[in-house]
Amino acid sequence: MVAQKPRVVVVGAGISGLAAAHRLCVAGGDRFEVTVVEAGARVGGRILTSEFAGHRVEVGATWVQGIDGSPVYALARDAGALSVDGLPYERMDGFPDRVLTVAEGGEVVDADTVAAPIEELYRGMMEAARAGEAGGGGGVEDYLRRGLRAYQAARSGGGRELEEVEEALLAMHINRERTDTSADDLGDLDLTAEGEYRDFPGEHVTIPGGYSRVVERLATALPPGTVRLGLRLRRLEWGGTPVRLHFADGAPSLAADHVIITVSLGVLKASLGKDGSGAGAGGGGVVFDPPLPPFKREAIARLGFGVVNKLFMEVEAVAPSEPEDDGGGGGVQPDFPFLHMAFRGQVAKIPWWMRGTESICPVHAGSSVALAWFAGREAAHLETLPDDDVIRGVHATLDSFLPLTPQWRVKRVKRSGWATDPLFLGSYSYVAVGSSGEDLDLMAEPLPRATESTDERPRVLFAGEATHRTHYSTTHAAYLSGVREANRLLQQYRG
Ligand SMILES: Cc1cc2nc3c(=O)[nH]c(=O)nc-3n(C[C@H](O)[C@H](O)[C@H](O)COP(=O)(O)OP(=O)(O)OC[C@H]3O[C@@H](n4cnc5c(N)ncnc54)[C@H](O)[C@@H]3O)c2cc1C
Repeated sequence: MVAQKPRVVVVGAGISGLAAAHRLCVAGGDRFEVTVVEAGARVGGRILTSEFAGHRVEVGATWVQGIDGSPVYALARDAGALSVDGLPYERMDGFPDRVLTVAEGGEVVDADTVAAPIEELYRGMMEAARAGEAGGGGGVEDYLRRGLRAYQAARSGGGRELEEVEEALLAMHINRERTDTSADDLGDLDLTAEGEYRDFPGEHVTIPGGYSRVVERLATALPPGTVRLGLRLRRLEWGGTPVRLHFADGAPSLAADHVIITVSLGVLKASLGKDGSGAGAGGGGVVFDPPLPPFKREAIARLGFGVVNKLFMEVEAVAPSEPEDDGGGGGVQPDFPFLHMAFRGQVAKIPWWMRGTESICPVHAGSSVALAWFAGREAAHLETLPDDDVIRGVHATLDSFLPLTPQWRVKRVKRSGWATDPLFLGSYSYVAVGSSGEDLDLMAEPLPRATESTDERPRVLFAGEATHRTHYSTTHAAYLSGVREANRLLQQYRG
């Protein structure tokens, strides 16, 4: 009689789930029966490359945050995705070295004497925070504002008008930090935990062939039939062995010896239900039966999971005498500037949600596709607006910040919608005030908990970006956490 192989079901075919399955199949040889169940119609999760106006654009993960020793970069290289294939892509020319910083109303902010010192102050303070050198605790916003006040107090003169511009510039960098971290309110972003977060060393780059090539590389290396799309886990019965997975839409349930859960922290938060107990898990959530133990529920509840969205705009310059819809008369198009915006609150026509973005920049120099990043409530609101309202809001903003000719007009937009998508319910995690790096470790702990029943093998394991203590929020975190949980199972069946 042939002994049955341990059955492992990985829930979610994002990069963490695919990394776990890949590791189990490659390093585990033929030892496990591996299935990946994915609710959506595609693999990749929050990695999603698309096309817009003749450009390759990233709807989700955009940057490889440090290439030296990065497994994601190595996968992109192995997939052949680092070679340029003709289609222009985001930041193909790296970071712009000179930006145009404008204050609301159209006044250009002097780059050297005003904008650069405030940028240096902001970057220096965030570097200090990430090096664990920012004392005081609390939230990041207070810390940055204290820094600006100290900077202004140390300078003699300057006047109220300059101070107001500097405050608007700091608010602009705060918007940038909100999109980097996904914290709606930087007052809610834990300063101490910033000292634990790590990027990989080396350059930050985008992937010429598209980020999706990384996950496709992992998926195609799996035995055929391993990934099953369109299976949405609704209820997980994990009180004994086998664990039973029940799916939406009446799909037949599955039994497993081990389940690796990789759904987003947003989906896990929805799984807690309104009272946090797990009863009546909300739309998108998974019902855990029995409910998750308190240590896990509390970590899920305490950690932050915010919304970040990208708005792509096809832009064109229109001379004032020309009708808006004729593309500017066919002349040579000027370049859209790398526009950084210091909002001051005077122009009533600019909608509140536009005030949450730091910049509107071409995706590469000379491109007709511009991009703005939004975080928090502005990002969530963006998802609710019809295209025409979005375009009107952008026009009001551009008219204020770029009042001289040419007038810039948006032909069409494409945007992400991570908050309303029930398979994600947000974008990425952060350590909120009131939580700590330890919560990320608790997220990674399998069930049943080792201290409760030491002789039992883990039945439910957790991977995903929100389970990695130092790289959380990134594709690196997700990938490494998937490998970590696969290794945990490999350890169990060693020898
Ligand atoms: C706008 C945006 C920009 C980003 N920029 C960067 C960046 O520049 N650099 C970077 O490193 N990272 C970035 N990230 C973060 C990065 O994309 C994520 O950290 C990473 O992709 C998460 O992978 P994951 O496998 O943990 O989760 P996911 O990709 O969320 O995978 C989980 C999978 O589970 C599936 N699922 C959900 N519920 C169920 C269910 N009930 N049953 C079955 N399947 C289910 C989902 O469909 C999904 O495919 C960005 C993310 C966003 C949204």
